[in-house]
Amino acid sequence: MLNKFLPDEHVPSVFDIDPEQLKAKGIRGVITDLDNTLVAWDVPDATEDIKRWFEKMDDHGIQVTIASNNNETRVKLFSEPLDASFIYSARKPLSKAFKKAQKQMNLNKDEIAVIGDQLLTDVLGGNSAGFHTILVVPIVQTDGFFTKINRKIERRILNWMRRRGKITWQRRDQ
Ligand SMILES: [Mg+2]
Repeated sequence: MLNKFLPDEHVPSVFDIDPEQLKAKGIRGVITDLDNTLVAWDVPDATEDIKRWFEKMDDHGIQVTIASNNNETRVKLFSEPLDASFIYSARKPLSKAFKKAQKQMNLNKDEIAVIGDQLLTDVLGGNSAGFHTILVVPIVQTDGFFTKINRKIERRILNWMRRRGKITWQRRDQ
């Protein structure tokens, strides 16, 4: 059961996710988290680096959908200037938003990668829906109230997996 929390890949940040490498794996679409994945949870707008990352994905024909558990105002204000597709109040790890994104992108399961900073929402949801999952290190260590609780559980799962040799990487917050 805990294997559902195990990401297929772990990278320091989205900037380590390269469209050529995705394409080599047959990936043609990405469903990415917003808060602490693309920017810090309390930063309203995309940075120049994030804008370039979206352009790079677009140049290589990789579709990107932002799926966030945050509210409409937050997600819309961030996504619209990027011209990016978005789903707010996604209720990850539930599969509904993931399936909606898949349908909108018109891709097969094995053509989609899910990117996010949380095991309990992004990785669990992505794995359950049958997508390739990529965990990134959260951009900042501060979090909203509910995320703080998730982080505690997450740390225990990561430690459990590490003890069993399922993961070898260490996060700077652990
Ligand atoms: Mg997040």
